[in-house]
Amino acid sequence: MRQCQGCTECCFALSVKEIGKADFTPCPHIFEWGCSLHGIGKPAPCVRFECLWLQGKLPLEAWPAKTHLVCTLQRTVLGTAYVILETEPEAAEELYSQPLIEFMVKQHPVFVRKPDGDSLLKGGSPEQVQKYNEIRDKFREQTGKG
Ligand code: SF4
Ligand code: SF4
Repeated sequence: MRQCQGCTECCFALSVKEIGKADFTPCPHIFEWGCSLHGIGKPAPCVRFECLWLQGKLPLEAWPAKTHLVCTLQRTVLGTAYVILETEPEAAEELYSQPLIEFMVKQHPVFVRKPDGDSLLKGGSPEQVQKYNEIRDKFREQTGKG
C-alpha cells in the first residue's frame, strides 16, 4: 500500500470548507512532512481523500510531489472523466507529463484544472469537446475568468 511520502500537493489544490480553505491556495496546516492536524482534528474530507496515485492506479513515477498533478476520477457533466488539478502552472504540458496524460486519454477524457482558474480538456469525443467548450465559454462570460 502506498503512502503520501511527504507529498502535500492536494493540500494546495483542494478546497476544504471545514477550515475555510479555497482551492489552489496553500493550507495553513501544511507541515514539513504532511498535515499538522494529523490525529487531532484533521477535516473529514482530508482524511477521506486519496488521489489516484495513492490508490495505486497510476505508475510510481507519477508521484504528485514530482509531477505537480493531483489526479482523480470523477463523474462530471461529460460523464466519467479524469480530473487533474495542476499545482504548478503548465505542469500538464511538461514533457515528463505526456506519457501519463496519453495513458489516461486512452481511457477517459482528461479535464485539467489550472491554478489560475482556467481549464482545458484533453481527449474526449467530438460531442464531449463541444459540450466542454460551451460550458467553458459560459463560465468565462459569467466570471471573466479563464
Ligand atoms: S496528492 Fe496524493 S500522494 Fe499527494 S498528499 Fe494528496 S493523496 Fe497523498
Ligand atoms: S488540513 Fe491537513 S490534510 Fe487538510 S488540506 Fe490542510 S494540511 Fe492538508
